[in-house]
Amino acid sequence: MGTLPAVRAARCVRTARSRRPVAGRQKKQKFVYDFTEGNKDLKDLLGGKGANLAEMTNLGLPVPPGFTITTEACKVYLESGQEPPALRDEVSAHLDALEQRMGRKLGAPADPLLVSVRSGAKFSMPGMMDTVLNVGLSDASVAGLAEQAGDERFAWDSYRRLVQMFGATVLGVPGELFEDALERAKRDRGAASDLDLDAACLRALVEEFKAIVAREAGRGFPQEPREQMDLAVRAVFDSWNTERAALYRRQERIPGDLGTAVNICSMVFGNLGADSGTGVAFTRDPATGHQGVYGDYLQNAQGEDVVAGIRNTVPLAELERIDKASYDQLLSIMETLETHYKDLCDIEFTIERGRLWMLQTRVGKRTAAAAFRIAVQLVDQGLIDEAEALRRVSGGQLAQLMFPRFDDAEAGAAGVRRIGWGIAASPGAAVGKAVFDSYTAVKWSRSGEKVILIRRETNPDDLNGMIAAEGILTSRGGKTSHAAVVARGMGKTCVCGAEELEVDTKRRRLTATGPDGAPVVLEEGDLVSIDGSTGKVYTGEVPVVPSPVVEYFEGRMHAGAEEADELVRAVHRIMAYADRVRRLRVRANADNAEDALRARRFGAQGIGLCRTEHMFLGERRELVEHLILADTDAERDKALGALLPLQRADFIELFEAMDGLPVTVRLLDPPLHEFLPDITELSVRVALAEAREDENENDLRLLQAVHKLHEQNPMLGLRGVRLGLVVPGLFAMQVRAIAEAAAHRLAAKGDPRPEIMIPLVGTVQELEIVRDEADAVIAEVERATGTRLRLPIGTMIELPRAALTAGQIAEAAQFFSFGTNDLTQTVWGFSRDDVEASFFTAYLEKGIFGVSPFETIDRDGVGSLVRAAAEAGRATRPDLKLGVCGEHGGDPESVHFFHDAGLDYVSCSPFRIPVARLEAGRAANAAATR
Ligand code: PEP
Ligand code: MG
Repeated sequence: MGTLPAVRAARCVRTARSRRPVAGRQKKQKFVYDFTEGNKDLKDLLGGKGANLAEMTNLGLPVPPGFTITTEACKVYLESGQEPPALRDEVSAHLDALEQRMGRKLGAPADPLLVSVRSGAKFSMPGMMDTVLNVGLSDASVAGLAEQAGDERFAWDSYRRLVQMFGATVLGVPGELFEDALERAKRDRGAASDLDLDAACLRALVEEFKAIVAREAGRGFPQEPREQMDLAVRAVFDSWNTERAALYRRQERIPGDLGTAVNICSMVFGNLGADSGTGVAFTRDPATGHQGVYGDYLQNAQGEDVVAGIRNTVPLAELERIDKASYDQLLSIMETLETHYKDLCDIEFTIERGRLWMLQTRVGKRTAAAAFRIAVQLVDQGLIDEAEALRRVSGGQLAQLMFPRFDDAEAGAAGVRRIGWGIAASPGAAVGKAVFDSYTAVKWSRSGEKVILIRRETNPDDLNGMIAAEGILTSRGGKTSHAAVVARGMGKTCVCGAEELEVDTKRRRLTATGPDGAPVVLEEGDLVSIDGSTGKVYTGEVPVVPSPVVEYFEGRMHAGAEEADELVRAVHRIMAYADRVRRLRVRANADNAEDALRARRFGAQGIGLCRTEHMFLGERRELVEHLILADTDAERDKALGALLPLQRADFIELFEAMDGLPVTVRLLDPPLHEFLPDITELSVRVALAEAREDENENDLRLLQAVHKLHEQNPMLGLRGVRLGLVVPGLFAMQVRAIAEAAAHRLAAKGDPRPEIMIPLVGTVQELEIVRDEADAVIAEVERATGTRLRLPIGTMIELPRAALTAGQIAEAAQFFSFGTNDLTQTVWGFSRDDVEASFFTAYLEKGIFGVSPFETIDRDGVGSLVRAAAEAGRATRPDLKLGVCGEHGGDPESVHFFHDAGLDYVSCSPFRIPVARLEAGRAANAAATR
C-alpha cells in the first residue's frame, strides 16, 4: 500500500524576490484603468480579476462598468504606507466617468450608485483577501435605494451587509459579533433564514450593527460614500499582508511582493427578489473535464452567500426552469468564453431582475486528470494544437496520476469514515495502524506492521519513525512544515495540518468528529487511511486501486483497448507528442533486471546509472567483508574471485534486459564501512564476548576494520575512485565482470552496450590511472574471448573540482554524467542525511530555499557549475556525451534546466521516467517558442 517512492510532485523554484528600484515609480505612472482599457494579458498590472473583467468587457459581454486600481499602486502603498499621491485624482476622474455613464452619483441620497470594492492579485488567492460590497450606502441613501428598487427590504438588507462587511474587513471588528446578532434576530423572530427577516427587522439590525462598529472600532460607520470607498481600497491593499494571505503565498510559492489590484465595479443586485440571484459556473467539469453545465445557483442572494454556504444552492441546470432566458444567455456566454480563452473557464455571475451580469471569469483550476483530458479535448475541438496541449499539463500532474489511489467509493467499505481533512502535503494513499510516537512506529514496523505515524507536528527526532511509517499525519503545520518537507523528500504519503484532529500523544489517541457530527476516538493500533493527494483522513482501511495510468505505462492496458478510459487515451496522446518533440533522451537509474525491464516499459532509452554497490548487499555483504579483511594478496584475490562470477551474472542479466540500449555501470562508490556491521553493535558484541572470555577472532578483526574505516562523515572520505585506487583489484574485478558479461551476450547474439563510469573523480590523473587499468583488463578479456568490445569509459562529475577542471578531465573521459546529488552536497558543503531533517524546514520557512536543492537543481550555484563543465568538456571533446544521473534527472523543473544546458540525456528512477519524458518534451516546446 506504499507510495511510489521515486515519483514526486513537481515543485517550482521560488521566484527570486524582485527588487524594483523605487526611482522607476517616480515618473508619471497610470494607476487606474477603466475596464475598457485593459485586457487579459495585463495580469501583472490589473490582477487576474481586473484583466479578465477588462477582457470580457471588450468581448462585449455584460460586465457592470467599473475600473481597476493597479498592483503598482498597491506596491507603493505597501512600501511607503501611503497611497501614491496621484491616485486620489485618478480615482476621482474614473469615478466621475463611471457616474456619468451610470447616470447616478456614488451614494447620492435620491438614487445612489453603489460599487463593490474587490481584491484581485495576479495569481488567484481564493478567499485570502478582502472584498466589500454595496459601498455608497448610508443612512441618507438607503431610502433612495428602497425607492428606486421599489423594495424596502432589499435596501435595508444591502445596508446591513455593507455595515457588516465594512465593519469586519475595513474596521477590524470581529465578524462573530455581527453573525451572533444576525442569529439572534433570526431566533427572536423564528426565522429559518435571513430571507425571512423583514425590512423593519433589518433596519433594527443595521442600528445594532452600527452600534457594534461604534463600540468596537472606536468610530462610527462612515456615512460619506467616498470615504467608504477610499477606506475599502486601503483595506484591500492591507489584506495583501494578512497572516493567512502570507501563509497561502508561501504554500503556493507566490512571491510576496506582487501586491493586489483593486476592482471598483458598479453594483448589480442578486438580492432583489425571486427573479434575481447569483451563481458560479464552470464551462467544464473541473474534476473530469467533461463538457456540461456545472455550477451552483442561489436565488435572491448576493455573491458572498454562495461561497459562505448560508443557504442551499441549486444545481446550475435548475436555472433553466427558473429563468430560461438568462440560462440560455449564460450558456452562450460560457461557450464564447471557452472559445475565446481556449480553456476551461470558471465564472461568477449575477442576475438582477432577469438581467444577466458577468462578475468574474478566469481559466479555472482543475484536477490532474482533468488537465490531461481537457487538453486533448481542446485539440480535438480544434481550439488548440498539440504543442499547446503539452503546455497545459505538467510532470507534477502526471506524477499525481501515477500514485495508487483510494477507491472513489471511499465510504463504501465497512468501518471507513472520513474524520478530517488536512493539507495534501505529499501524494499517495497510505493505510496502517495508528501510532503516536516514532519509537512505536519503528518497533511495530520491524515486526511487519504497516503504521501511520500521527503527531501534532514532527521534528528531527521523528525521522526514524517517519522512515518506518507508511505515511505521516500531523494536526499542525503547512506544506512547508517539517513533516511535509521530509515526507516529500522521502516520497512518503503525508497529510499535515489536519487541525480538526486532536492528537493526544501522551494517551496515544486521536479524537475527531465523524461525518455525522459524533465524536470518533482512534486509539493506538486502530487502522487509519490517509490520502496525500486530497488531504483526507479516514478511519479504517480504504481500499486502494492501482492507477490506470501506471497500468498503461506498464503495458497492462493499451490506449486503444476498449477498457482504456479517456484519461489513459489523453495521457497516451500527450506522451506521444512529447516523445516526438523532445531532444533530451531519458534513461533509468536501475541496478537489476526487474527495474531495468520496468524502466524499458516506461520508455527508458537506456540505463544512466547502475549503482554496483547495490549488488553487494544481502548475503553478498560477507564476501565484501572478506575483501576488506584480507591481509594478503592471496586472500584478496580469493575474495575478488568469489565476487567476480556473481557480478558477471548480474551484468549478463542487466545487459540482456537492456539489449540494444546503453547501460552505464558505475564502479563501486560508497565507503567500505557501509558494508561492515554497525560499530556500536559490534563493540557491544566484542565486549560481551570478552567478559565471557569467549572472544571470536573474526569479530575482533572486524572491529579493528570497522574502527579503521569508520568515517564521521561518510560522504567525503575513502569512496569512489579513491577506493578503486587503494583497494587493489577491486575496480579491475568489476571491469572484468562487465567485459566478460558483454562478451557473453555477444556470443549469445545479443547487443550489449555497457559504458563504464568512474565515480567521484576530482582530477584527471585519477581517471587516467583507472582507465589504464581498465583498458588492460578489457584487452585481456578481448584476447581471451576472441571478441571485439566497445566499452566507453567516462566519469561522473560530482565534485566542484571535477566541474572546474572538466576541460582536462574530458581528455580521459568519453562521457560525463553529472552526479547532482553529490555535486549539490559538495557545492553547498552539507550532507543530505544530516541537513534535511535538521534545518531545511527552517530554511524553507525563512525563504532561503524556495524548494530543497536536492529536489530541484540550484540553478545559480550547482547549475552554473554544470553549465560550465558541459561547455569546457565539449570544448575539449566535441562528441562528449553528457548526462545527469542525480535525482534531479526526474524533477520537472530541473529537466528544463538540463535541456537548456545542452545535455544529451537525463537519468532517473524508473517511476519517474514518464515524468521526465513529458517534461523533456515541454522543455523542447518551451525552447522552440522562446
Ligand atoms: C549523484 O551523486 O548524483 C549520484 C547519482 O550518485 P549517488 O547518489 O549514488 O551518490
Ligand atoms: Mg554520487
